[in-house]
Amino acid sequence: AGPGLKVISTMSVGFDHLALDEIKKRGIRVGYTPDVLTDATAELSVALLLAACRRLPEAVEQVKNGGWTTWKPLWMCGYGLSDSTVGIIGLGRIGQAVARRLKPFGVRRFLYTGSGPKPESAAEFEAEFVPLTKLAEESDFVVVTCALTPATQGMCNKDFFSRMKKTSVFVNTSRGAVVNQEDLYDALAHGQIAAAGLDVTTPEPLPTDHPLLSLKNCVVLPHVGSATYATRSTMAVLAADNLLAGLRGDPMPHELLL
Ligand code: NDP
Repeated sequence: AGPGLKVISTMSVGFDHLALDEIKKRGIRVGYTPDVLTDATAELSVALLLAACRRLPEAVEQVKNGGWTTWKPLWMCGYGLSDSTVGIIGLGRIGQAVARRLKPFGVRRFLYTGSGPKPESAAEFEAEFVPLTKLAEESDFVVVTCALTPATQGMCNKDFFSRMKKTSVFVNTSRGAVVNQEDLYDALAHGQIAAAGLDVTTPEPLPTDHPLLSLKNCVVLPHVGSATYATRSTMAVLAADNLLAGLRGDPMPHELLL
């Protein structure tokens, strides 16, 4: 749109793809779609967690390729949520919705980290605010639901994975760049952690020959967190309403305040 650009409407809650400094400098208004995708993304996060910890893609493959033979006690075993500790990185809208869905699975303890304690959000889960290092060390499941910012970029790195238990499962439904993928690959390949589930990667799409795709203990999805028909439809209408309000000079249903 060149210098005539007045309004940007993104059909997403994440806005890490926008050059916010430049946008602000030019006085451009931005609409986005928080809340309406929270449930769908939290649901997908739980699905991905279960797929990774109970090895679902691998198990499905065994059925198809004849690997399913006589019953063996430890064949295709994984890790369950019952009596576990779950660490949430970023107890925001989606992080809380994930915790709410995981609690009935019998999770014993919730930990979370972020820019500071949020007692009101944490109360429902009796979640404990801890530093990132402690979250890595004590969680059986780590779920990343924070925004991608300069502070969170590359946050899940070699040091982070080396602190995790060998039996722990890592799930990321935020943005790929929060994770150092080379470090994650090493941790998965060398048994430093048990498994990972990723809905987001760097880059997207992930090249089909990417090393992460060669690992049995890594489940990768093509960024489908909010992909239900109902949610995408609601997001589309909200994005259009934001855009039209912006063009009219009216308050937007959801404006990103810069
Ligand atoms: P919110 O703004 O509600 O939550 C973002 C969270 O990030 C906040 O709790 C915030 O914590 C946390 N955060 C910020 N800085 C840090 C930090 N340094 N360390 C740890 N946590 C931090 O956003 P939503 O829950 O609605 O969405 C979260 C993200 O999920 C989006 O930004 C987007 O990238 C991603 N997403 C992915 C989708 C998918 O398809 N996979 C779909 C939708 C969203 P605090 O409040 O303490 O600062």
